[in-house]
Amino acid sequence: MTVTSPFSGLRGRLKAQAPLAARTWFRTGGPAEWLFVPQDKGDLAQALQQCPAAMPLTVLGACSNLIIRDGGLPGLTIRLAGGFASIEQDRDGLIVGAAALDSSVAETAARAGMTGFEFLATIPGSIGGAVRMNAGAYGGDIASILDWVEILTRNGTCERLPAAALSMGYRHATLPEGAVVIRVRLQAHGQEAAEHIQERIQSMRASREASQPLRARTGGSTFRNPEGAKAWELIDAAGCRGLRHGDAQISEKHCNFMLNLGQANSTELEELGEMVRERVQAHSGISLHWEIKRLGLPLPSSSSPT
Ligand SMILES: Cc1cc2nc3c(=O)[nH]c(=O)nc-3n(C[C@H](O)[C@H](O)[C@H](O)COP(=O)(O)OP(=O)(O)OC[C@H]3O[C@@H](n4cnc5c(N)ncnc54)[C@H](O)[C@@H]3O)c2cc1C
Repeated sequence: MTVTSPFSGLRGRLKAQAPLAARTWFRTGGPAEWLFVPQDKGDLAQALQQCPAAMPLTVLGACSNLIIRDGGLPGLTIRLAGGFASIEQDRDGLIVGAAALDSSVAETAARAGMTGFEFLATIPGSIGGAVRMNAGAYGGDIASILDWVEILTRNGTCERLPAAALSMGYRHATLPEGAVVIRVRLQAHGQEAAEHIQERIQSMRASREASQPLRARTGGSTFRNPEGAKAWELIDAAGCRGLRHGDAQISEKHCNFMLNLGQANSTELEELGEMVRERVQAHSGISLHWEIKRLGLPLPSSSSPT
C-alpha cells in the first residue's frame, strides 16, 4: 500500500513505518509512523512547519530512558543525529548540540579542565534527553550547569530560553509542548587540572559498574524516588528483586532497573512495572511513579496498562 507523505522538500531522511526497537536500550517497541532525521536546524524547522497541528509529535534522544509501546509511535517522530552533535568551547563553558552524548560532553570538558560536568560521564543519554529529564548523578545534574537552551517550537520557530524558564527539579524540566531542544550552553563550575577531573570520572564510572547492570537491555531507573525514600529499597522490601514476567525481569543487581532478558516486549516490561507498583503499594502504602517515559500506542490486541 502506498502512503501519501504530508511532508515534501526535506533534505534529511524521512521514512514511513520505520522500526525503532533496535534504537532503544530495551530493544523493544513498535515502529514510527513517520521517522525524520533532519540534516540541520533549517531542515527540522521545515518539517515542523509542515507537520499538521493534529499530528502527534515525538522527539527521541538515545532512547535510554523510555519504553516505546509495541503499537509504535503515531505521527511524526524526530531523531536528532550528526547535524546536532557538535561540542564547542565557549569561554568558560560549552555550547553543545542536543544529539551529543553526555559522556562525550564530560570527556571534552575534562580535557579543557572544566569542572561540574563529571557526572555526565555516567549517564548513557544525549544532551537533549538530559535536559528534558534533568539527568543527574553523584550530586550533579543538568540544572546545575545549564545556562540556556535553544528550542524549535512546534511551529518551527527558534527560541532561546534561560535555564530559569524551565523550572527544573528532580528528573524534571518544563518545556513548551512539542518543543525540540536543539542546542544548549553549559557553564563550568570552575577550572582544575584535567588529570584530577579524569580521576573523578574514572571513580564514578567504577562505582557505576559495580552497582548497575550497565551492559544489559535496560532503561535506567524505572521509578522516581518518592520524597524521603529510595525506590529500590521499597521494591526490595516488597520482595520484587529478581521478579520475572516472561523475559522481563527486575534486576538482581539494582532492583530499580528492569531488564529485557532477550525476548520481552514493551507490554511485558510495562506489565512488570505495574506489578511492582502494586506490590510496593500493598507492602508500604507508597505509590511509585514511573521515571521511564512510556510513549506511543499498545498493540490493538494487547492488554497493556495505560
Ligand atoms: C544504564 C543506565 C543508567 C542510567 N543512569 C542514569 C543516571 O544516573 N541519572 C539519570 O538522570 N538518568 C540515568 N539514566 C536514564 C537516562 O540515561 C537519562 O534520563 C537520559 O538523560 C535520557 O537521555 P536520552 O537521550 O536517552 O533520552 P530518551 O530516553 O531518548 O528520551 C527521554 C525523554 O526526553 C525527551 N527528549 C529526548 N531528546 C529530546 C530533545 N532533543 N528535545 C526534547 N525532548 C527530548 C524524549 O521525548 C523523552 O520524553 C540511565 C539509563 C540507563 C540505561
